[in-house]
Amino acid sequence: MRALSIRIQQHGDPSVLEVTESELPSPAVGEVLIRQSAAGVNFIDTYHRSGLYPIALPGGLGVEAAGVVEAIGAGVHEFKPGDRVAYAGGAPGAYASHRIMPAARVVPVPAPISEEVAAATLLRGMTAQYLLKRTFKVESGMTVLIHAAAGGVGQIACQWARALGARVIGTVGNADKAALAARWCDLVIDYSHEDVAAQVRAFTAGRGVPVVYDGVGAATFEASLDSLAPRGMLVSFGNASGPVPPFSPGILAQKGSLFLTRPTLGHYTLTRQELIDTAEDYFTAVSRGDVIAEVHQRYALADAAQAHRDLEARKTTGSTLLIP
Ligand code: NDP
Repeated sequence: MRALSIRIQQHGDPSVLEVTESELPSPAVGEVLIRQSAAGVNFIDTYHRSGLYPIALPGGLGVEAAGVVEAIGAGVHEFKPGDRVAYAGGAPGAYASHRIMPAARVVPVPAPISEEVAAATLLRGMTAQYLLKRTFKVESGMTVLIHAAAGGVGQIACQWARALGARVIGTVGNADKAALAARWCDLVIDYSHEDVAAQVRAFTAGRGVPVVYDGVGAATFEASLDSLAPRGMLVSFGNASGPVPPFSPGILAQKGSLFLTRPTLGHYTLTRQELIDTAEDYFTAVSRGDVIAEVHQRYALADAAQAHRDLEARKTTGSTLLIP
């Protein structure tokens, strides 16, 4: 049997994505071979493709997928052939029909969760987990601001924050997305034409919010700082609109002795135990109905370039899958 994968020879626009065929690899010591039923498409894949986050070339793309263990290498005790598994994070290469992974970076997919949901949302779900529970702990009664509330991370984070008892303010880029985000936000701000900080102040009786979760980056940085209460925290976790430009730390003092952090999932899942705990907490939130994890877009693996075009053109909502 042969494996299909999407690879790039150079950084660039979506046209650099190529479908390639290769021999099916065998797992080495500590590795598993996964027959993948679906791979998730994440914004980080566009950074790997464009070179904003450079990768070794030629190389694969994609950092999450789910499927069934086809074979295990020596020394693997966590899994056996036939187990349903998923992974999120690590080196790119998930856009493929089969993938070799270190067993230590793979998690079991519990019975109530479909492989599609695991493949489409594990990365975003684990991201929401560490953002809301470990980077800044959301507590009942707080009001929080989450940008791109109709997006992949945004949908999950908004629902989960609400389940934790928070009042959620979400931002979106158009009226259709506003209608979608209204399902899980107490206030939706369309940042294509509304003043985010002014709306946040009005909604919080002038106080501002204790935390802003910002995966949009350059376009929202100022409004995020201006929406915070004194000693509030800006959690800047992504660059969908481009990276935040350099700034003086003095701005944080001027705007209220603010905190700023720029976290990534890898640093919150350093050990196998952290990885398992983070994934389990997310899958439990889905099983309980705290988070409704939906797949909003599906593409054939060979159409990965179109998936990138749509994601970058802000045409997608929620999570996106490639089906090998
Ligand atoms: P999304 O599905 O949220 O897509 C990004 C959204 O950002 C768009 O749909 C769009 O929503 C909004 N956006 C605002 N400005 C732009 C722009 N100029 N170009 C494109 N999109 C824009 O993506 P993901 O869920 O995959 O990721 C969300 C963010 O989280 C990304 O920045 C990603 O890198 C980051 N991330 C960070 C992680 C971490 O650990 N640090 C882990 C996972 C994701 P709208 O039209 O409503 O504005």
